[in-house]
Amino acid sequence: MSQAPGAPARSWSIDWTNTLFLGGYHLLLFILLPIYIARYDASADLILGTAALWTLCLLAITMGYHRLYAHKTYRTHPAIEAFLTFFGTLSTQGSIFSWSHDHRIHHRHVDTDLDPYSAPKGFWHSHMLWMLKKRPDINPRVIHDLWERPSLQFQHRHFGSLMVATNVIAWAALWAITGDPVGSFVIGTLLRMFLVHHCTWFINSLAHMWGSQPFSTEHTAVNNFILSVLTFGEGYHNYHHTFAGDYRNGIRWWQFDPAKIVIWTLSKIGLAHDLKRVNHLTIKRRLVAADRHLMMERIEELRHRIDVEAWKRQVEEAAASLTENLNGLKTATDRFQRLRDEKMAEMREARDGKLAEMRSLRDQKMQEMREARDGTIRHMREVRDEEIEALNQRIEELKQAVSEEMEAWKSMVHLVLESPESRLAMVPAAR
Ligand SMILES: [Zn+2]
Ligand SMILES: [Zn+2]
Repeated sequence: MSQAPGAPARSWSIDWTNTLFLGGYHLLLFILLPIYIARYDASADLILGTAALWTLCLLAITMGYHRLYAHKTYRTHPAIEAFLTFFGTLSTQGSIFSWSHDHRIHHRHVDTDLDPYSAPKGFWHSHMLWMLKKRPDINPRVIHDLWERPSLQFQHRHFGSLMVATNVIAWAALWAITGDPVGSFVIGTLLRMFLVHHCTWFINSLAHMWGSQPFSTEHTAVNNFILSVLTFGEGYHNYHHTFAGDYRNGIRWWQFDPAKIVIWTLSKIGLAHDLKRVNHLTIKRRLVAADRHLMMERIEELRHRIDVEAWKRQVEEAAASLTENLNGLKTATDRFQRLRDEKMAEMREARDGKLAEMRSLRDQKMQEMREARDGTIRHMREVRDEEIEALNQRIEELKQAVSEEMEAWKSMVHLVLESPESRLAMVPAAR
């Protein structure tokens, strides 16, 4: 599977390795599964074991291949990486290098000809047909941060053998548990591979076609709860394409994103760190921009029924004010956080006795210098405490303004996007 970087492949040639592998195992499954069902009874152990492998494979793709390697949204302990790499390899979706490479290009050039699984080319293309065509060789620059890592190079270089080995190990383990070698192959290997593949592939096909777009309509990605259930959290694809650097896909606590919960839990027991999350005010600002865009389109559609210019002005003004206040709130809270961290760090230092150490200096000159400096520091602290106080007040004011404007904004969005056109036409734009 190792590829020399450089010459691009001809775009129309067939990737025989992928075609024979994918076509071959689908065919084998379609022949063997009905025979197995007709002749044998699948034991509960076999069903449970297969479900466990399916879960671990999808979690490894979501948490490992996707969020850890392709997007680097957190860091984790080598043991967790090894675990994710094992089950990622078992998922037979190519090496971490090739998967991350194609996926990063997908994000960078989404929906264009350069996007490997470009959704506008149709369901079947983005779902699986793209893999049957030969892809250009890996460009190391796209994955420069992964390229030098020996363990990942090893996985890439020996991917074919590792893929077979992990699948044989999983088969043997399932056979040992169930005592059913045929079932462990047909259900635990072929059917499990089929389910893991198609669930993952749905993210490239259905998650760009079927669902809602609350964060951005600038790409085809959509949010879809059902797809999240099938992929352990990847269904909030509209959010993901808008904020790919976030370790979460479902940002609300109630959204089904088990990968997010596992990563968060690992961070709490010291096995993951540097979890990246987008600030909630930045997300709100993005939502306002998306709403604004939709409302402008809708107002334009109703051109013959309503006072377009007045409505546009009203939406524009509300969006501008809300955005400005959200920006102000973000700046103030960031600064507040920084000053408070600084203060906490100093208090910790004082507690640790560093200041006590300084106090023990006997030298007169040092004493004078210290006094002078202490005076300056005291003054700086006073100034800082005043700023913290002022910021606190400013944040409260801005929060109040934002929450009031957000309420007004929501009713405006509701009125423009969801009310029947006749009702909108009856409401005058300017208040
Ligand atoms: Zn996508
Ligand atoms: Zn992604």
